[in-house]
Amino acid sequence: MQVSNRISTLLSGGSDGWEVFNRARQMIAEGISVTELTIGEHDIRTAAPILQDMHRSAMGGHTGYASIPGIPALRDAIAARVTARTGVPTSRENVMITPGGQSALFAAHMAVIDPGDTALYIDPYYATYPGTLRGASAVPMAIKAHASDAFQPRATDIAAHAAGAKSLLINSPNNPTGVVYSRETLEDIAEVCVEHDLWLISDEVYDTQIWEGEHISPRALEGMAERTLIVGSMSKSHAMTGSRIGWVVGPAHIVEDLINLATHTTYGVPGFIQEAALFALEQGEAFEAEIAEPFRRRRALAYNVLAAQNVVGVVPNAGAMYMMLDVSATGLSGEGFAYALLEAHHIAVMPGESFGAAAAGHVRVAMTVDDAAFESSLKTLCDFAITLATKG
Ligand code: PMP
Repeated sequence: MQVSNRISTLLSGGSDGWEVFNRARQMIAEGISVTELTIGEHDIRTAAPILQDMHRSAMGGHTGYASIPGIPALRDAIAARVTARTGVPTSRENVMITPGGQSALFAAHMAVIDPGDTALYIDPYYATYPGTLRGASAVPMAIKAHASDAFQPRATDIAAHAAGAKSLLINSPNNPTGVVYSRETLEDIAEVCVEHDLWLISDEVYDTQIWEGEHISPRALEGMAERTLIVGSMSKSHAMTGSRIGWVVGPAHIVEDLINLATHTTYGVPGFIQEAALFALEQGEAFEAEIAEPFRRRRALAYNVLAAQNVVGVVPNAGAMYMMLDVSATGLSGEGFAYALLEAHHIAVMPGESFGAAAAGHVRVAMTVDDAAFESSLKTLCDFAITLATKG
C-alpha cells in the first residue's frame, strides 16, 4: 500500500541529522559511558512542587476532556505574561494552548499556509523546522544567516526570497547558535514582512534564557501584532519537556482557526497538565531564573576554556542552552568531527550540518551536564581539535 507523499517526503529523503545522536544512544545501550551534549534536555527534572500540583489536579478529578483552547486561567496567565513582555495588550482570545511548542509550530503553519505555499525559515535552524513546514504542505525555503554576521539574518537576503512567500519562521534566542536577534535585525525583518505581506512566526521557546542583552518579541514592534504568531513553551523555561505544554499567541481570528484545528487533531491538552503549568507560571520570574542559572554558569566556564586556545572558535551566544563551536580548523566537517570525538572520547555533540548548511564546519554543544563534566568535556574537545589541527 502506498503512503502519502506528505508523509514519505517529510524528511525530504535526506539525512534527518540525528545519526550521531543515535550512535551515542546505541553506545550507551551497549554499556559504554557517553557524555551527552546533544539534545536540549535539562539535567534536572521537573520540580517536585509542580508534580505535586499535577497530582493534586488529577486526583481532584481533572482527568476528563479539558477545554480545547486551554483552561481560561492558563490562557489569562500566558496573556498577562505576553502583555508584560511586549507592551501589547494581550487577552485570553489571543492565546491557544497546545501540546508543546512543536505542536504550536505545526499549528501556526497550518493556519497560514495553503498547499504549495512557500514558507521561509532561517538557516541554521532547529532540526524539525523543514519537516514541520512540509508536514503543513508548505514548500520550505531556507535563508542562510552567515557566521561572519554572527548569524544575525540579513533582511536583504529574506527580501530576495520573499516575493510570493507566505510566511517567515524565526527563532530568537536561537537554537542551535544561541544568538539573540538585535532590535535592528528584528526591525529590518518586520519591515520585510510588512512590505511582502508575510506572516511572521516567532519561535520564542528560549525567551527566559538570556545571558546578555534583551529578548525582543516582534509582537512588540509597530504594526507586527496583527501578522505575528508567537510560539511559546514551558519545556525550556520550567524544565517541563515531558509535560508537552506550549502555546500560540496571535490575532484572535487566528486563534479561532487554531481552536478548530485542535478540535480535529489534538483535542486539547490534559487538564492536570494545564493546571500544573499555571502553578509553575505562578512561581514567577525568580523560578525561571533558577532554571536558567546552570546554563549561565556553564557558558561562563566554556568561555574560559575556549579562551585558552585558538583552534576552536565560538559563535558569540547571548542566550539559549547551546554553544556553537567552529571546528573547521581541524579540517573535518562538523559531522566528521562529531563522529571522531564520539569514537575517541565518548563525548556526543551535534554536527552543525544537522541544523543546515550555514552551520557546516561547526558543532553544537548543549550545556546539559553538570558543571565539572561540562568543563572537562570541553577541555577534551579542544585538546582533540588541537591534535587534529596540528596533524592536518
Ligand atoms: N523550538 C525550538 C527552537 C526548540 O529547540 C524546541 C525543542 N528543542 C522546540 C521548539 C519544541 O519544544 P517543545 O515542543 O518541547 O515545546
